[in-house]
Amino acid sequence: MVLKGKNLIVFDFDWSFVDQDTDRWVLEVLSTKARRGWQAGKKEAPCFMPSITDAAMKVLWEEGITKDQILEAIAAIPLHPAMKRAVLGLKARKPDTKFVCLSNSNQIYINTILEAHGISDLFSALFCNRAHWDPTHPDRLLIEPYLPPSAPPHACTMCNPNMCKGAELDGWIRENGGWDAFDKIAHVGDGKNDFCPMVRLRTGDWAMVRKDLGLDLMLEEGKEAELAADVKRWEGAWEVDEIFQSL
Ligand SMILES: [Mg+2]
Repeated sequence: MVLKGKNLIVFDFDWSFVDQDTDRWVLEVLSTKARRGWQAGKKEAPCFMPSITDAAMKVLWEEGITKDQILEAIAAIPLHPAMKRAVLGLKARKPDTKFVCLSNSNQIYINTILEAHGISDLFSALFCNRAHWDPTHPDRLLIEPYLPPSAPPHACTMCNPNMCKGAELDGWIRENGGWDAFDKIAHVGDGKNDFCPMVRLRTGDWAMVRKDLGLDLMLEEGKEAELAADVKRWEGAWEVDEIFQSL
């Protein structure tokens, strides 16, 4: 028997859950040289961000930046108090709500931020790039794509090679009772790579799109017609709280 009444909230992380880009933030806090190199790499190959960010982490390590400095920098990223209020308020009102994160940031950044805010248990699942500290150089953070090079490439043309966000969402939902197990699915996102999972949402679900960023512009250029879900635009975290309050 499928239990009805549950809601699922899917979050992108950078510029959606937090008010910044995690990769960019750490580099800006710690090293102008690494930040500049990252920018150049991004311009050249925007599809391969995990390896570009990994190269920037190597620059930080060469500059003598320590693990503690990196963790301190990432923990200080702006997470709007209203976003915390939005998710914690929803959890308190509807305790069976599930939260899933689909992000192109990495597991060490996201877990450090959630821990710093005492909300490590918020997400039931976290899909993001892999990261670990180099065992031979403890201050060097190694970042690798979510899909290891040995894995067969995904066939999605909308997503970057490191992860098909839509396929991961689909897989998680299948393993957690299927689409019918959730009364409503709301996806909070800002970037073009949030379109693939959003296009899978059903009539009555919510695509919660941050105003004036890449995804919003893409929808305005005509892609909105491809979404079955209702589009709810927001600019500040307080509006996410307001939308969640109507769930
Ligand atoms: Mg984003």
